[in-house]
Amino acid sequence: MPELPELELLREQLGKHAGGAKIINVVLDPKRAFIIRYPPMDFARELTGKRIAGVGRRGKFLMVSFADFDKQLIVNPMLGGRFAIASRAAPALASTCFTLQLEKALDVRFLDSTQMARIYLTATPETDVPAFAQLGPDALDPALTYDVFAARLRKHRGELKNVLRNQAFVSGIGNAYADEILFAARLRPLRRAGTLDDRERHALYDAMRATLREAIEITGAQYAAGKHPLHKQERSFMKIHGRKKTTCPRCGHRISVVHPGGEATYYCRGCQL
Ligand SMILES: [Zn+2]
Repeated sequence: MPELPELELLREQLGKHAGGAKIINVVLDPKRAFIIRYPPMDFARELTGKRIAGVGRRGKFLMVSFADFDKQLIVNPMLGGRFAIASRAAPALASTCFTLQLEKALDVRFLDSTQMARIYLTATPETDVPAFAQLGPDALDPALTYDVFAARLRKHRGELKNVLRNQAFVSGIGNAYADEILFAARLRPLRRAGTLDDRERHALYDAMRATLREAIEITGAQYAAGKHPLHKQERSFMKIHGRKKTTCPRCGHRISVVHPGGEATYYCRGCQL
C-alpha cells in the first residue's frame, strides 16, 4: 500500500510531467470504472479539455486541481492504486482503470490490480470523500511541531502501531512506515501511547519526521536511477519492515513478526522497548 513517501514521489512526478498540461481525452475501462465514485461518463466529459493546474497531497490522498474548474480529482490509492506516466504509444497494462490523455502524446494512467482504490471528482471533499474531513495533519506538515504532536498523542491511549496508522491522529503513515518509525524510535509497536515519557515522545516525533524524510530521499533517488517505476513499490531499503527471518541491523537480535488483525508487524525485542 503506498504511504506518504511513495505518494510524495507521485505528487512530484505527476506535477512535473502533467502540471500545466491540457487533458484532450479521457479513456475509461467500463469494467473498472466502478472505482470512480462519480458518474463515469460525466467524469470523462467534465475532465476533457481541462488544464491540470497542480498536484497536491494530503496524507495518503492525492489531489489534482484544474484551471477554471472548481472540482478536484481526489485519489485514494488504498492497497494497489498506482499511476504511470507513459507516452501514448507505450503498451497499456491490463490493470489500467482510466487514462488521462494529455497534449504532446503523454498519458497519465491509473492502474489498480486490486480494484480497491477510490477516485472522486468534487469541489467539496470534506463532505464527499469518506474520512477526508477527519484527516489529522500531514505527518510532514511544518505546522505539526513537537508540541502539537505531543498534545494530539495525549488523546490517544492505544497501541503505538495503531495510533501511528490512525489517519485522524496524523495522516500519511500506514503499516510499513509505522514499523520503520517505531524501530527508529526504539519503541515496541504494542506499547500503549499513554505509557510514554517525555523523552520517548520526543524520540517518536523525531523518528517520524526523519524516517519519512529519509524515505522520500531514497525513493526519489531510486526513481531517478530507474529502479523505482511509479507504478511499483520498492522498499528493499527498509530496516525492519518485511525483513523476515533475519537479524536486527542495530543489535543483532532475531526480528519478530506478529500479525495482530491480519497485517504483519515487524519489530526487534532486543532494542525496542
Ligand atoms: Zn534490535
